[in-house]
Amino acid sequence: KSGFIAIIGRPNVGKSTFMNHVIGQKIAIMSDKAQTTRNKIQGVYTDKDKQIVFIDTPGIHKPKHKLGDFMVKIAENTLNEVDAIMFMINADEGYGMGDQYIMDRLESIKKPVFLIINKIDLVHPDQLLPLIDQYKDKYPFKEIIPISALEGNNVSHLMDVFTEHL
Ligand code: GDP
Ligand code: MG
Repeated sequence: KSGFIAIIGRPNVGKSTFMNHVIGQKIAIMSDKAQTTRNKIQGVYTDKDKQIVFIDTPGIHKPKHKLGDFMVKIAENTLNEVDAIMFMINADEGYGMGDQYIMDRLESIKKPVFLIINKIDLVHPDQLLPLIDQYKDKYPFKEIIPISALEGNNVSHLMDVFTEHL
């Protein structure tokens, strides 16, 4: 199985760390769908039964000026091309205005969205459930999955979940 997943989230939630953790190799163009997305491709996760291409999407944030507006447009075009969207948050921070802005944009895109709660190594397990409760009614997430991109906790489970949906 193979597919494309866009990563979005506020700065510093751990998107690049996640990429570095999972990426095995640079993209080899593997389908005609890649023709349209390859410029934004950051890397590929390869396992015996799956190949998942991850695309970092830094432009989704409230635009502060005209150029920002343009960046948001590009990011939205990317989101329309992928199979699923990984919306990453920081377990240590909780819900914020930046998150609501992103969720508002996601509604018009109509792709499966997975909420990834990163940096669980920084919080007590008891803090996780209240955090999940905060988010779960705000958007119809496909699944909510806690990970630590830095330590690799639960990352292979996340890959299995993605694969089920590809
Ligand atoms: P990005 O802006 O979303 O790409 O975030 P980065 O990947 O650059 O990460 C921002 C900071 O968070 C860096 O100092 C990372 O080392 C740290 N970080 C990322 N993931 C984790 C994690 O799972 N646990 C902890 N403790 N720190 C993390
Ligand atoms: Mg980054």
